[in-house]
Amino acid sequence: MLSDTQLLRYNRQILINDFDVDGQEKLRAGRVLVVGLGGLGCPAAMYLAVAGVGQLLLADGDVVELSNLQRQIAHTDADIGENKARSAAATLKLLNSETAIDVIDEHLDAATLSALVSRVDVVLDATDNYPIRFALNRACIAAGVPLVSAAAVRSEGQLSVFDPARGGPCYRCLYDESGDAGALSCSESGVLAPVVGTFGTLQAMEVLKLLSGYGEPLRGRLLVMDLRSMDIRTLTLAPRPGCPDCGQR
Ligand SMILES: [Zn+2]
Repeated sequence: MLSDTQLLRYNRQILINDFDVDGQEKLRAGRVLVVGLGGLGCPAAMYLAVAGVGQLLLADGDVVELSNLQRQIAHTDADIGENKARSAAATLKLLNSETAIDVIDEHLDAATLSALVSRVDVVLDATDNYPIRFALNRACIAAGVPLVSAAAVRSEGQLSVFDPARGGPCYRCLYDESGDAGALSCSESGVLAPVVGTFGTLQAMEVLKLLSGYGEPLRGRLLVMDLRSMDIRTLTLAPRPGCPDCGQR
């Protein structure tokens, strides 16, 4: 049951007919793992906190650097040198003290990832690290947990929900682990601040949809957007036959 204060706080969401009190209560019961508190993870985690998600697990082993501040909006000058998950947790506490936050201030290996994924309802992939992305994909498939994944570079970004247990492909169906996908990184190619802000925010929206049952999550579809031209497309994705990660299902 939501308190009177909570009904007021979340009023603008509760007003939406097919979201309602029921959707808000589901957010309050929701547990989300956010991997990476950088350009995508900061806005994503901030929106999840203010929207009323009950529990957030924030994982990042890196520390805040000066060149992060252009786009990683949960961190400030005073946070330089601080662990990113701890820095983001402090910001989220100011935004909504009701959200329970666990900080994982270390780099994750496959065993740690599996243990974390088993504790949550949804995983939000906001990393720029391909080995971790593939490991996350495997951990999510094993636990049957949906993976909300985005990437952004220069003026472009893409977003999808990988949830083969409920239909559609997994991350590995799209991206070959042996490929040169690592070439696309912000540190090498650059990125405009609102581009990661847009995609982190869209990731938060997909998480809210998955937790509450509202709308249609981007399962089996890939949103591709170039903010330079505002060219927006949604591609339909099919599982890849023989995918080594989800193909044996
Ligand atoms: Zn697959």
